[in-house]
Amino acid sequence: MLHSSLKLLKVIQIQRNQHDDLNDMYSLHENGLMVLLFKVLLAARKSDDGNEARKNCNLQLAYQVENIPSTLLDTDLLFPLLMVESRSVQQSAYVLLHKKLPSTQEQISIDYALSKQDEPPVSINPLLLSLVTDVPSEHNLDMVEDLHVMDAALRTYLLSWLLIFDHLQYASFAVRSAYVEELKETQDAQMLLNLIISSLGLSQSREKIDLNSLDVAEYTPSQQSEDWTDYRHLVVHMYYLLLRHLSSQVRSWFLSCTNRALTIALEDFTEKNISPILIARELDELQSSTNSTELKSENMMLKIMRTAREVTAFYTVDEQTMEIRVHLPAAYPLRQVEVEGVRRIGVKEDRWRAWILASQSLMTSQNGSIADALILFKKNATLHFEGVVECSICYSILSAQNRSLPTKKCKTCSNKFHAACLYKWFKSSNSSTCPLCRQTFMF
Ligand SMILES: [Zn+2]
Ligand SMILES: [Zn+2]
Repeated sequence: MLHSSLKLLKVIQIQRNQHDDLNDMYSLHENGLMVLLFKVLLAARKSDDGNEARKNCNLQLAYQVENIPSTLLDTDLLFPLLMVESRSVQQSAYVLLHKKLPSTQEQISIDYALSKQDEPPVSINPLLLSLVTDVPSEHNLDMVEDLHVMDAALRTYLLSWLLIFDHLQYASFAVRSAYVEELKETQDAQMLLNLIISSLGLSQSREKIDLNSLDVAEYTPSQQSEDWTDYRHLVVHMYYLLLRHLSSQVRSWFLSCTNRALTIALEDFTEKNISPILIARELDELQSSTNSTELKSENMMLKIMRTAREVTAFYTVDEQTMEIRVHLPAAYPLRQVEVEGVRRIGVKEDRWRAWILASQSLMTSQNGSIADALILFKKNATLHFEGVVECSICYSILSAQNRSLPTKKCKTCSNKFHAACLYKWFKSSNSSTCPLCRQTFMF
C-alpha cells in the first residue's frame, strides 16, 4: 500500500511539469505531503533485512524524503533513526540531519553570543553521543573487506561521527570549544582513531590503502552497497575530519604512543595525504574575507610563506613594529605548531610570553586555527595599548579558552582574573581564596 502510494507520488512528480492542473494541485498540497512523509519516515523503525518488499518501500521513501525542506525537520526525532536496521532509513536520517545541522548550529551559536553567558549552555545530543560509544569490532571490518557488507551497527557508528563533525564545523568558536570539551571527557575520539588505523592497514594487519585519486576532503554516502574501496574512502575522510576538528586529542595520543612502527606509518601517511590539504586550508583561511576585517587593519600586516609553511604577523604601534611567527610542521597537526615571538615592543617580557603562549595553546589544545591565534594576539596587543589590565593568573588579556576579558575582580587586592582561570584555581587549590592576596574571594 505504502509502496504503491510512493510510486504514484513519483509518477505525479514526473508528470506535473506537463500538466498545469496537476501542478497546481501538487503545489497546493506539497507542504502537507512533506509533513506526512516525515511522519512516515519516523515510523519506519523495522529492519528490512531479508524483506524485499519493505526494502523497496524504504528505498522509495528515502528517495522522497530528501525533498522535505529543513524547516519541517526536527533533529531530535531524527537521531533515533540512525539505529534502524535499514540502510535506506539510516541514510535518509543522515542526509536530512546533515542538511539541517548547519542552520541549527548557527542558530545555537547566535543565541549563545546574544545571551552574554560565560559558558555556552549547550551540549551534543546525548543519544548521538551514545551512538559513538559502541565501537565496531574487527569482525565488522572483515565483513566489509571480505563480503562487501557494512552492517547496520558499523553504519550507525560512522554516520553518527559524521554528524558530530557537522556540529563542530558549523558552530562558532565558543560553542565548538564546549563540544570539544565534552568529547574530551570520553575515549570516543581515540576509539575512532583505532578503527581508522586498523581500516587503513596502518597497523599492518590489513592491506595498505592506495589513495589514488580519492578526494580526502569530500565524501557522500551512496545508496549503492559499499565495497571495500568506498568504505575506506569514508574512513580516510573521517581521519581528515578528526584531524581538522579534534587534532589535540589525536596529537596527545600520537605523542604518547609507544608503538614506533605505528607512529612512523601514521606520520608518513598523514604528512603525505592529509597535512598538505589542512595546511592549504589554514593559509587560505587567513586570506578569506571573513577574517580579513579582523586580521587586516592599518596596524596589522601578514606575510604568508606557503612553501615554508609559515605566517608572520606584524603589528605596528607608534611607528614601531612587533612581530610574531607561526610555523606549521610538515605533519601538521600531528606535530605541534610553533608560535614564536620575533620582536617585542612596549610590553613587558612576561606579558609578551603570555600572549605567545595563549595564541599557541589556542591552536594546540583548543583546536583553533592560525586565524584564531593571530586574532587573539592582535586583540591582546590592542587591548594592552588601550590600557586594559591583564588577568593576574595567565597574564593574557583575552582568555585563550573563550576570548573573554578578565572580569572577576578581587575586592581586597583589586587584581583581575578571567572567570575560567579563577575557577580552575579554586578547583585546584580546593578553596575560594584570591590566588594573590589569599583573602576569601568576594564576587
Ligand atoms: Zn587568565
Ligand atoms: Zn586578592
